[in-house]
Amino acid sequence: MSGYRGRFAPTPSGPLHFGSLVAALASFLDARHVGGEWLLRIEDVDPPRCPPGTSDTIRRQLEAYGLSWDAAVMIQSERDAPYQAVLARLAEQRLAYPCSCSRKEWRDYPIYPGWCRSGPLRPERALAWRLRSELALRPVSWHDRLFGEQRYDPAALGDVVLKRKEGLWSYQLAVVVDDAEQGISDVVRGADLLDNTPWQLQLQAALGYPQPRYLHLPLIVAANGQKLSKQNRAAAIPVGGDAPRDYLHRALVALDQAPPRELTGASVTDQLAAAIAAWDPARLHREAKRQAPDPA
Ligand code: GLU
Repeated sequence: MSGYRGRFAPTPSGPLHFGSLVAALASFLDARHVGGEWLLRIEDVDPPRCPPGTSDTIRRQLEAYGLSWDAAVMIQSERDAPYQAVLARLAEQRLAYPCSCSRKEWRDYPIYPGWCRSGPLRPERALAWRLRSELALRPVSWHDRLFGEQRYDPAALGDVVLKRKEGLWSYQLAVVVDDAEQGISDVVRGADLLDNTPWQLQLQAALGYPQPRYLHLPLIVAANGQKLSKQNRAAAIPVGGDAPRDYLHRALVALDQAPPRELTGASVTDQLAAAIAAWDPARLHREAKRQAPDPA
């Protein structure tokens, strides 16, 4: 097939943990099940948060789990020029505007109140750039393949930052430009990003980009109920010995794919081949999943 092109887009702020393995695996299986392509993109737009060497660690982790990607890896820290060009286009259409406000100044408001919409109030300060949400063409409803119809009040979204005053690109701008440039047809990622999607749809509409399909996955929480995240120092998934076989099996269980018992402990290659053939997103449940505790 297939016209399907998926991607895994980790932020290299730490090695992959069990939750990121589940996201990578689901997007990989969703692509490979239909003979589609699967790309890797390193989302390092915030270098101070990304320790050197982490993206190499992530590549080694994906390799150890048999999650092989097509084509060259896209690296966001090398993509200043295309992001700048897109920002210039939005500014020309008056869909992006410079903003001098600090978070502290509008802390009593639920969203940024748009004070700089007709010009920065304090032009002598370093300026961020924001999307003018109210003018952006905005499909703010869409169908998520797991979570169903999603609808957001455009007035409640606020003018999201596209470029920070320190000069760093925002996740929202980079992800939209790169999904379009890589020709991504299907975004499969964790449900923690569900409420980021409306801004991404607004940006796609403002830029005339096609809108991918979205499948947000149930969140994975630690055995104690806490969210797994790099900030919580969730443990890195192991790459050595037989550990990937075990973790891969557990990731398939977390995705409700009911991997056959006889494949428990089978090689990564055999488990993946069976999982690609059997992938069925209709088995997914919306509820957060607890990560099984490590075997004693
Ligand atoms: N870079 C984001 C993260 O690691 C994921 C972005 C996406 O899949 O859209 O959480």
